[in-house]
Amino acid sequence: AQVATAEFIKSSTKTEECPTDGLPEFALVGRSNVGKSSLLNSLVRRKRLALTSKKPGKTQCINHFRINDSWYLVDLPGYGYASAPQEARANWYEFTKNYFLNRESLVSVFLLIDASIPAKKIDLEYASWLGQNQIPMTLLFTKCDKRKKKKNGGKRPEENVEDFQKLIREYFKEAPPWIMTSSVTNQGREEILLHMAQLRNY
Ligand code: GDP
Repeated sequence: AQVATAEFIKSSTKTEECPTDGLPEFALVGRSNVGKSSLLNSLVRRKRLALTSKKPGKTQCINHFRINDSWYLVDLPGYGYASAPQEARANWYEFTKNYFLNRESLVSVFLLIDASIPAKKIDLEYASWLGQNQIPMTLLFTKCDKRKKKKNGGKRPEENVEDFQKLIREYFKEAPPWIMTSSVTNQGREEILLHMAQLRNY
């Protein structure tokens, strides 16, 4: 699984504005600071391809990157800014839910979860929403290179990953596929690209 070309195509503010060529796509989503831009750049091996605004309250966009002229990686805005006003959070939910429920070429959502800290309520809520709406999902655990720290709950990434999976089990008929990743060591990169290739060929 190789990435030969990666091209920014467009930013859309609505699902209806997204590309209409019908190429299959995978959406990356996660809490702000989860490591989404780092992972996206490591997947395509480019520095700063994902130049998206990180300021809360700014217009939220759906960013399409075309890979090898045949499929899309889609960067969705991060959720869970501590500083975001309630209204911005509500808008975020409406915005992405519309995309998840109506985007026909969406093959799978890749939900990024920080494996260096214990499970967060907002991530559990998000995973359960996707599960309950039967939206295909893959879990990408990020920052797996980080060692355990007392201030982060004192658990290793592997333990946090196991805890998270236990907590979401009830929302899924089958456990969602999951991959441990690190943008520092590139752990998981090949596995993600292979998994995406398999999903496209179903
Ligand atoms: P985003 O807000 O989700 O796009 O997150 P960023 O990609 O900007 O990363 C947030 C912070 O986490 C930055 O300080 C990164 O250097 C750090 N980070 C991201 N990925 C990793 C990783 O795989 N390992 C480690 N140790 N740190 C990471």
